[in-house]
Parts: sequence; C-alpha cells; structure tokens
Amino acid sequence: MSNQSCGVLIVGGGMVGLSLAHQLLERGLASAITVLEKEPELGRHSSGRNSGVLHAGLYYKPGSVKAKVCVNGANRLRAWVQERGLPLNACGKLIVPPRPELDSQLDVLAERGRANGAQVEFWDEQQLRELIPEARSASGRALWSPNTAVVKPITVVRRLQQELGERGVVFLAGQAGWTTDPQRRQLLLADGDTITYGHLINCAGLQADRVAHRFEVGRHYSLLPFKGLYWQLKPDCPIQPRTNLYPVPDLDVPFLGVHFTPSADAIPVVSIGPTATPAWGRENYRGLDAVEPAMAAANLALLARQYLANRGGFRRYVHEQAFLALPPLLLRAAQQLIPGVRAEHLQLSEKVGIRSQLFNHTTQRLEDDFLCLPGQHSTHVLNAISPAFTASFALADLILDQALPTMNLP
Ligand SMILES: Cc1cc2nc3c(=O)[nH]c(=O)nc-3n(C[C@H](O)[C@H](O)[C@H](O)COP(=O)(O)OP(=O)(O)OC[C@H]3O[C@@H](n4cnc5c(N)ncnc54)[C@H](O)[C@@H]3O)c2cc1C
Repeated sequence: MSNQSCGVLIVGGGMVGLSLAHQLLERGLASAITVLEKEPELGRHSSGRNSGVLHAGLYYKPGSVKAKVCVNGANRLRAWVQERGLPLNACGKLIVPPRPELDSQLDVLAERGRANGAQVEFWDEQQLRELIPEARSASGRALWSPNTAVVKPITVVRRLQQELGERGVVFLAGQAGWTTDPQRRQLLLADGDTITYGHLINCAGLQADRVAHRFEVGRHYSLLPFKGLYWQLKPDCPIQPRTNLYPVPDLDVPFLGVHFTPSADAIPVVSIGPTATPAWGRENYRGLDAVEPAMAAANLALLARQYLANRGGFRRYVHEQAFLALPPLLLRAAQQLIPGVRAEHLQLSEKVGIRSQLFNHTTQRLEDDFLCLPGQHSTHVLNAISPAFTASFALADLILDQALPTMNLP
C-alpha cells in the first residue's frame, strides 16, 4: 500500500477534467496534477461519444455561463485542433424552421448569437438550396453560422491526454471503487493505496452528482439520463448534406432536436440524431448493459409528474422528442429538414451517447446552465452538458477563477 500526494486531484478524465488540467498548467497554477478515471481508458463516456460539433454560441441566453464561454472556448479548441493538424470539418451550420410558426425563433437566435459574439447571417431559400439542394425551410428563411465546425471528439481527448502526460500530469485509470475522507483530503483506492490532495475537482460527467453527494455537496440535485441514438445516411444515399442542418429549437426544451451532421472524416459520414429518450441507466448505451432499475423507475415517475404539471417544457419535450428513437418518428423529423430522405437511406449508427440533464429537486426544474458548486477543499462541476465539449478550455478558466480563492495552492 502506498500514499501518493498531489496539489490538484481531478476526478474524471473527460474533456472538462482534461481541460482543467491543461489550464492549470497553462496558467502556472499547479504542476502536481493527478487525473483519476474509473474506466481503463479515457473517452468512454460523453467526451468520446458526442456529435463533435464546435458550437458557435447561438443558443444561449446572454449573461448565462454557456454564453460567456461558448464562443471563446470554440475559438480556442478550434485553434488547438488546427495547430495539431487533427481532423476538422469547417462546414458551418444552417438552422431552418420546420414549421412556419417557428420562423420568429430565427430572430431570437440571431439576436442571442450576435450578443454572444457569434457571426450569423440570414439566408433566403435560394442560398439555402445552393448549399443543400434538398433542404427546405418552412418559412423560406434560414440562419447561417459560418463558424460552426465538426471535430472527431475521441481524437481530441486522446491527443490532449497524451500532451498532458508528457507535461507531467499523472493519469490513474481503472479506478472505480474509491472512497473518500474529505476532512483529511484523502481518497482511498480499491487496492488500498491512498491519494492525499490539496484540492479536488469533480468532473465525473454522468456521475458528477453522485460523486458530489459523497462530499455532502449538491444533495438536492440529481442527473437524469437520456439516451442519444444516431442514425446515419448510407454512403450510396444520393443526398449528402455538406453542412450541419439543424431545426430551429424550442428554446424551452433542453434538447436541440434531431439534426444532420457531417463528420470530420476525409469522406464525411452524415449522422442524424441524437435522440433523447429516458435511459435505463447512466451508462446504459446498449441493450440491458448497466441498467439501473430503481433509478429508471424513479426518473420515469419524476418525468410523469413534470409532464402533468407541464413544468419547464416537459410536455413539449414528451410530444416532440421523447419518442424519436422510433424509426418512423425519427424519419419524419429528418424529413422536416430534408423531405427527400427515405427510410432506405438510413442505417443505425454505432454511435450512442447519454445526455444527462441536472434536475433541481428544490425548484422542481432542470438546470439550463453549467453549474459549479464549492465543497470542502473541493469543487464540483455538476452540469457539464452541451456545449461543454466545445467550451471546455474557456469553461475550465471560469471554474478555476471561481475556485482559486479556496484552492490553497502552493
Ligand atoms: C449524444 C451527445 C451529443 C453531444 N454533442 C455535443 C456537441 O456536438 N458539442 C458539444 O460541445 N457538446 C456535445 N455534447 C456534450 C458533451 O459531450 C459534454 O458536455 C462533455 O463531453 C462533458 O464532458 P465531461 O468531461 O464533463 O464528461 P465525460 O466525458 O462523461 O467525462 C467524465 C469522466 O468521469 C469519469 N468518472 C465518472 N465517475 C467517476 C468516478 N466515480 N471516479 C472516477 N472517474 C469517474 C467517467 O468515466 C468519464 O470518463 C454531447 C453529449 C452527448 C451525450
């Protein structure tokens, strides 16, 4: 049995944890950094399973944390990816209203985007069709975001891990069953080893609420998992959009709606999705793997209560998005953007992610923004939902600025 010690212990080696390690080094704040990861390798959860879209910052309410960090974070991550020659598809993004009454939402998005520092242009139907001949806008208008890009998320995670390792960050992977003694600033690992830390940062993604509860932090929050399935256009499908094509989202519903995304591969694969169906477990990617029956039952009961009370856009979520995992409904959603897409053009993708949403049991609402809570000698990142991948470098700076006064770094 051995005792290791570090200045900062980061729990969770996803993009948020890695970006925090990166910014701690870049800003010269700490050098003795350990990343503790429960899986044998990094990128097994959200950071390796997302759409890879570097969002341009259109959706977020000015003043929100998402709005503050998205544009800056996207610019920095894009530059980082380009400097290393990693795959990047600078294909932009089009947003179209699938129904005429949603047209005015384009103005809201344009206004928000400009307030957040993003570049946006209104396009007419002719411009839309020049880029995607088969696309349609119910109102004839579209919003063009030239700075949206797509990366390969797992490639980004692996490269960042490699570089951090070369700069002295210690990675302890395969560490699931640890316990904690917050008073003594210690973690006891399953093999009996201990780690003593100056400050701990919880970046455990889908499990971040459970980790926080072990530190008596955020007891009135829990994460609700939603499964995100993707379909993709078959290579011989005659329709292959060259840019991201999104519906105007219902801004009261937490998910952006099913969209078309070309990958950053040399020959882009166009995915359609992700869906957002209540998941049977936090990590229930396939079949009955990692099913958590008690949690699933409690979440379904909670969703039913939200539906009945019609709180926080839940009723619209259920009507418009909860059943999109059913192929005919997914096809119908895809056809609202590209009417020529047929069932025979689609195949189920191997990609699947779990999109968690943080529920506040006190307000009985989902938290829309990133949330970072302080604990004793610890910081807990509780709601690193989209666009946390895009924004990770800037989000890390913000988390550190908030935590620094209590971090007691040497
Ligand atoms: C389907 C889908 C599509 C998305 N699309 C986009 C997109 O296009 N653009 C975008 O910006 N964002 C997108 N997102 C959101 C983005 O993926 C997340 O915001 C981001 O990856 C969160 O990173 P993270 O480091 O917080 O979490 P994760 O990547 O989940 O990392 C958390 C890590 O903590 C580890 N961990 C958990 N519990 C413990 C424990 N007890 N001890 C040690 N380690 C632990 C996990 O194994 C995991 O490796 C998408 C998400 C999903 C699911």
